[in-house]
Amino acid sequence: MMLAGLMQQVPLTLNLVRERVGDLYPNKTVTTRFHDRIHVIGYAAMLDRAGQLANYLAGIGVGRGMRVATLAWNSHRHLELYLAVPCMGAVLHTINARLLAPDIARLLAHAGDQVLFVDRSIWRTIGREIVLPSAVRHVVIMEDEVDPSIDPPAPVGTPATLYEAAIAGHGSAFAWPDLDENEASGLCYTSGTTGDPKGVLYSHRSTTLHTLACLFADGIAMRERDVCLPAVPMFHANAWGFPYAALMAGAALALPCRQIDPVALVELVEVAQVTVATAVPTVWLGFLDHLGKHPQAVARIASLRRLPVGGAAIGQSFIDGFARLGIEVMHCWGMTEISPLGLTNVARSDLDTEETRSTRTAQGLPIPGCRFRNVDAEGVPCGRDGTTPGELRISSPWAAASYFAGPADQAPSADSFAVEDGRTWLKTGDIATIDRLGYVRIVDRAKDLIKSGGEWISSQALELQIMNHPDVREAAAIGRTDPKWQERPVICVVLRSDAAEPRERFAREYRDYLASFFPKWQIPDEVIFCAELPKGKTGKIDKIALRRTFGSS
Ligand code: AMP
Repeated sequence: MMLAGLMQQVPLTLNLVRERVGDLYPNKTVTTRFHDRIHVIGYAAMLDRAGQLANYLAGIGVGRGMRVATLAWNSHRHLELYLAVPCMGAVLHTINARLLAPDIARLLAHAGDQVLFVDRSIWRTIGREIVLPSAVRHVVIMEDEVDPSIDPPAPVGTPATLYEAAIAGHGSAFAWPDLDENEASGLCYTSGTTGDPKGVLYSHRSTTLHTLACLFADGIAMRERDVCLPAVPMFHANAWGFPYAALMAGAALALPCRQIDPVALVELVEVAQVTVATAVPTVWLGFLDHLGKHPQAVARIASLRRLPVGGAAIGQSFIDGFARLGIEVMHCWGMTEISPLGLTNVARSDLDTEETRSTRTAQGLPIPGCRFRNVDAEGVPCGRDGTTPGELRISSPWAAASYFAGPADQAPSADSFAVEDGRTWLKTGDIATIDRLGYVRIVDRAKDLIKSGGEWISSQALELQIMNHPDVREAAAIGRTDPKWQERPVICVVLRSDAAEPRERFAREYRDYLASFFPKWQIPDEVIFCAELPKGKTGKIDKIALRRTFGSS
């Protein structure tokens, strides 16, 4: 029953972030490291440009609920889109820039995007190949200028403009509408096991709550004094929510564009005096290695204090390596479907010294607002004994309840969601133990996907193409541990003939064969020829057995 005399009903929308930045932090800056220059802009000027951008978008007919796509690396312009698009009531659809043109076109069509903002460097690669869906009415190239001798022309029939030209001439004052907190703010696709991507539709409410959760002291603890460097792409689950969290906290931002190699990161940390940075472990493994080989660079990163790292597991040597440099690693876990943060590893005060050390590599404790459980094959909770593995499920105001584009009244798909205790639980596809204090440790993955350098590769999509090859009888793609990328795909193949000649030919040609279907980074590193593939009781290929035999490098 609702009693009279309740609190104000202020909608939780990203306008709270936008307004706060303008009110309190106009002099903070965002530094972008482009490949040829460092660009610095104050938050006040960035907000003015976001207003101009909103006016431009409104002028070309973008309204509430319409989707605006980006194909862009981490830059101040992308940040302007992060603010302007949701705050005007439209939906920001960030597309993975590492995909091939046909896959990008498929996402644009599925999302029903009306405008595409694309970095010039990305447009150079895909502009001549991509067949834009008819719904895309405008293309905006995110540069000051183009070079007609190199840059692809605009697609016939689709007006194209340059970002700076698009916003020039528009006023910075925009009539930001009052939004409902349950309106959509962002859309991000994640890889499905079959290779069909699944759309995750964030709301203003979910994104704002997630943003606030990043400010908790026993979590990411973003604060005003920080300078935050999200080296995770802004197309991957809102760069893990770090840009919005930094803006809300009043922290400055440092954006690396697409350069996340150690040399570029050292330079950006030094120039912007970065205190907190985030990316997948692969990036930091390379960084650590670089610092080991170039000890003189260590002084240049002296400002760096905290490293929330997620996307894949990390080991004790990783944590120790950074501790020796005075940098605290915080292990995090998340997924696109939960905005993405769910767990952060902080040492509880009731752990003894040995427990503190042994829990450091666990994925962590639920951040406030997230409930976790792990369940057995029948869906029965396993209990918190720290040893019984079960599938991890999550319920949270910032976790998906279904995937994008199902009819509104569609029941959540049983594959990915379960309704229990009157709540929707997202099935994460991760296998985990939970201990008595609530620490979650991921021990395996039930979903049949390979994660290389932080990005997913669908093993089923690889298998399907390989099985189409006339010489192949059976195939299974698995992830093999890799010191640099954490996992790389390899394929186990049974050929129709066991003669040497077709083997040699297949080993020689499979990369070219797959090159027209997959980007280079998704092509398996190696073929493992097998006489047969192990099968489970139901006749399905036993991937666990294959991973046990061939999964370690
Ligand atoms: P994504 O949706 O691309 O962000 O990927 C989410 C998935 O990455 C999770 O379901 C896990 O399988 C994996 N993942 C994320 N963080 C970690 C971590 N700290 N340790 C192990 N796996 C992780």
